[in-house]
Order: sequence, then C-alpha cells, then structure tokens
Amino acid sequence: MAEAVRQDVLLSVKNLVKHFPIRQGIIFSKQIGAVQAVDDITFDIQKGETLGLVGESGCGKTTAGRCILRLIEPTSGQVIFDGKDVPSLSKEELRELRKEMQIIFQDPYGSLNPRMTVGDIIGEPLHIHKLAKGAEKEKRVREILEVVGLSAFHARRFPHEFSGGQRQRIGIARALAVDPRLIICDEPVSALDVSIQAQVINLLQDLQTEFDLTYLFIAHDLSVVKHISDRVAVMYLGKIVELTDKTELYRNPKHPYTQALLSAIPEADPTIKKERIILKGDVPSPINPPQGCRFHTRCPKVMDICRSVEPEFVDSGHGHFVACHLVPAAQGAQKMA
Ligand code: SF4
Repeated sequence: MAEAVRQDVLLSVKNLVKHFPIRQGIIFSKQIGAVQAVDDITFDIQKGETLGLVGESGCGKTTAGRCILRLIEPTSGQVIFDGKDVPSLSKEELRELRKEMQIIFQDPYGSLNPRMTVGDIIGEPLHIHKLAKGAEKEKRVREILEVVGLSAFHARRFPHEFSGGQRQRIGIARALAVDPRLIICDEPVSALDVSIQAQVINLLQDLQTEFDLTYLFIAHDLSVVKHISDRVAVMYLGKIVELTDKTELYRNPKHPYTQALLSAIPEADPTIKKERIILKGDVPSPINPPQGCRFHTRCPKVMDICRSVEPEFVDSGHGHFVACHLVPAAQGAQKMA
C-alpha cells in the first residue's frame, strides 16, 4: 500500500469494547458476569487499504466487525468513519451511513433469503436507501450481476439454484448495490472449496480496484488473508496482539501466537522444512480470561511476569505493533491508544 494512501484514514477504531452480559433469574434477573468478546482494540484502516483481521474461532473478530457497523451495540469505545462517530449516530443518520459501510457474510447459504429472487435480494438495499426503483432498479441489478461475474438472467432465479461460490457472488453484489466505500468481509470464503476461495478473493481484489473500496477482511486463517491484505491484525481472546504490514508479519512475526499460527500453514515447497509449533490446551473462556497476558496459559515462551502483568500494545519499530513482554517498544514509540 502506497504511503500516500496510508495517511488517509477512512475508519478509526479506538478502545472498542463489547461485553455480553450474563444474567441469572427470569423476573428480577441480575448480571452475574460478562462474555468479554472484544476487549479494548484499536486500529485504523486507510482509504483503499485491506486490513486482515485474523484469529481462532471465538476470538472476537466477527463481534468487532459487527460493532463497527453497529449491527450490535458496542459496550464502549470509538468507531470513527470518515470523521463521523458511528456509536453516537441517530437511527436516521446510521441508516444514511449504512450506504457507505456494507458487510459480506460468511455463510452464502444462510445469508440469502430463500424466498426472494436474486433480483429482489440485490434490489432490496436500492429500495431501502431510495437509490433506484422500477426499471432503473432492474437495470442496476443486471449491471451489478455482471460486475460480479454472474449474468443478467440470474436475477429471476432463487438462491437454491446456485453453487456456494455463486451465492457468495450474490452476497457481494448485494453489498455493492449501494456503492459503499467500506466493506467488512466476514470470513467470506471460509465456507467455500479451496478452488472457489481463490476466485472469490480475486473478484474482491478486482472490485477493490474498480470501485475504490476499502476492506476489513476477517478470517481465521493467516494463509487466506496473505494474498488480499495490505496489513494484518492478529486477535487472541478479544485483544489484538500483533498488527503490521503483511510482508513484515509473514517474514518476521514477533508474537508467539502469530508464530504458532504461521507455523501451521503448510509449505508449498517440500524442500523447505519448518518446525510446527503446537499450542497446548484450548483457548480459555472469554467469561473469565486469564490475568496478565491472555495468551500465557498456552504460550511456549511464558515468563513469571506474563501471569500478572498485561503487556502493552506498543510499536516495536516501523509500525510493527506487538503486545508481548518479550518484544520491547522502539525508542520513543508510543503504545497504540
Ligand atoms: Fe507469551 Fe509472555 Fe509474550 Fe504473553 S507476554 S505472548 S505469555 S511471552
């Protein structure tokens, strides 16, 4: 990503928190705890950039994406989109903003209404946002279908008549219909066959160039985001533990969790031997996350300090942010806040 683009922030997420309360009792229910799904995450996305957000299932990445769009209400923190504070917008202002921020869902089977034709599915946001109606809407639907590699006649068909890859193209077309600037791609290829994954990722890249789109690309696998991302943020148990340029992350991962994730990616060249880092145990519960560094119960490099003191998320040099006691901050660097 060009430096010029980096200086032009479209989305700024600051200290975002989402805790889901756990209640007990039916009539006089009281809160007895909280699922700490997202716990104080901070990052920016520049115009035209793709930021990959990666982590195991349950780490909070999808919740973060939904809080950014306010599909669920954040507990606290700031989400600034093009200068507007998303959590403080009224319903009407939010509806206006939804034209500019769209989402592509993970499940191309469950995310399309089986009773609606493809034309109605793609035309619905045009109707809701009063962007087109009648013949103009139909023309726009036909155009978008062709942009995503389908045909105009597909508008009359129903979702069950399509393969998984084609359905995901319909989901992409629905997101594109309102001419958005930011698209949150929530694991858009994880339900697809590997050969189809590459097609959909290539399509997303072509669309990004053609329509000047910005992506937050959520995935549970570092190999999926490698191709499409400019920078990558790695999440563990509600926290971002590492964030840097894609090339730097794959060449020089600094956080032990990122190192373990990268070691699990199969190497295409059989002459290259790499040591697989096997993490012990399961991911702890986000209801009661470990004190200190949340990764300490599974970290192969754990030290005493890790069990009690939470590491700060600091710039270790050239914008390579890491939260680990083993990685010192660069001289004069600030923590991300
Ligand atoms: Fe491992 Fe400690 Fe670093 Fe956490 S702070 S990743 S436990 S070395």
